[in-house]
Amino acid sequence: MNKNQLLVVFTVGVVALIAVVFFLVNQSNEKEQTVDRGDHVSIAGQPTLGDPNAKVSIVEFGDYKCPSCKQWGEMIYPQLKEDYLDNEDVSFSYINVLFHGQESILASLASESVYKQDPDSFWAFHKALYAAQPEVQHDEVWVTVEKLKEIASETTSVDLGQFEADLGENSTVLENVSIDDGLVKESGVQFTPSIMINGVMLEDPFDYDRIKQLIEQDL
Ligand code: CA
Repeated sequence: MNKNQLLVVFTVGVVALIAVVFFLVNQSNEKEQTVDRGDHVSIAGQPTLGDPNAKVSIVEFGDYKCPSCKQWGEMIYPQLKEDYLDNEDVSFSYINVLFHGQESILASLASESVYKQDPDSFWAFHKALYAAQPEVQHDEVWVTVEKLKEIASETTSVDLGQFEADLGENSTVLENVSIDDGLVKESGVQFTPSIMINGVMLEDPFDYDRIKQLIEQDL
């Protein structure tokens, strides 16, 4: 093979490689385009029940310190789960909101640490954390490192040393909490819980008829 032939082989190889890359990029674009969720918030890297590419994506913007979020989890979520969350075309994600200050931040760091270390236990931890919120006097301090460790040890198999480190200034999940905070601002969340379904923010998160309507119209 002379120099020119070598050059031809090399060029053909490069062109083929570029074609393959283009093909793959277009393919993944096509896949994303089959799901039109309007101005929906990005759920990449968020705890999600079901297929993240499902036709209908429901997002809860919640705050573990917020009494209405606890209520929503007890009143609306079970119905939603029964009606839709076993449907492969519907997914549910949770994004942290930090409207109640230091305790919101602490609880968010805890949930992100669980999600990072032991994602399969996230929803058990999430549920137990809301259950630990006092029914009355929810303004009193209840999100403490000790309480969070207790709940994590009961519901997950995280490394408790790492978990505790993640609650402090050397946290490895600070960035995740700050990503959530950015999404909250970007989505214009005004109160908690806020529920977004395929880009549409609910005026009243407790309006289950409206939730059903938004899901059904995109199924
Ligand atoms: Ca998150």
